[in-house]
Amino acid sequence: MRGQARADERRGWRRYALRYDKRTMTKRGQQLTLSCIGKRVSLILDVPDYFKEIFEDWDFCAATLTYSKHSKQFWVRLVFETDEPPQQDEGKVLGVDRGLYHIASTSDGQLNSGSNVRANQRRYLYNRKKLQQKGTRSAKRRLKAMSGKEKRFMRDCNHCISKKLAALNGVKIYALEDLSGIRNQRRNKKLNKWISSWSFYQLEQFLTYKAEAKGKQVGYVDARYTSQKCSRCKQRHSTNRHKSRFHCKTCGFKAHADINASMNIRDDYILSTTPSGSVEQASVNAPYVSTRDSG
Ligand SMILES: [Zn+2]
Repeated sequence: MRGQARADERRGWRRYALRYDKRTMTKRGQQLTLSCIGKRVSLILDVPDYFKEIFEDWDFCAATLTYSKHSKQFWVRLVFETDEPPQQDEGKVLGVDRGLYHIASTSDGQLNSGSNVRANQRRYLYNRKKLQQKGTRSAKRRLKAMSGKEKRFMRDCNHCISKKLAALNGVKIYALEDLSGIRNQRRNKKLNKWISSWSFYQLEQFLTYKAEAKGKQVGYVDARYTSQKCSRCKQRHSTNRHKSRFHCKTCGFKAHADINASMNIRDDYILSTTPSGSVEQASVNAPYVSTRDSG
């Protein structure tokens, strides 16, 4: 919130915020009433499915009303509280590889994609290309509207998948690639730049808060070579991966490329958190620890 305000100031936007607490607002079901100068304003909130749980079970404690001069819109931010969940002290590390084709592939061998993500993406990409080529004013307007629709669609997919992942039994830590530094170089050759950067980050944010609500954590690993390295022998060849197939030139290991990557992410995380030379520590995660690491 504070970071956002600063960023807006840099852009020359002014934000005006009114803070509400339990004395100046009431929430009854989906109706929110805020005290304003001389009157009370009632809003009916349209709560998406994935927030219903928080909306109904958590303690509603405050709201902030802001006006953005830039977009000429009022925004209400709702603040909910809940007791800190008990930390899970047992469970395994699950490697999660993010992609656009399969939104999240796990080291358990699951490929998660929104049921019709791919068909949608193809259609959007096709339409966008056509509109961009056109370049007229109405084409630009339609392009803008479409990007909003596409974003909402991806957000729903990210919500569903992060919810499913966070609910997995027996998992304590979700290991993800740290894409902050190399996102552009590695990913965008194949993936669409515009959509991938925020979509991956969004999945990360959703998974983080949903996992934390269940007493779990999200950890990060260096993203280099996770897709080229063999998850069995850890040898790396740039030719190991061919589209969605992974075939190790050294040991012959075959797997789906995204699953192989997620296994590397899991192993890298375990290795990075295991003190070197600590056999006792390593034996806890024995099934996952690789014997050699050429990376
Ligand atoms: Zn191999």
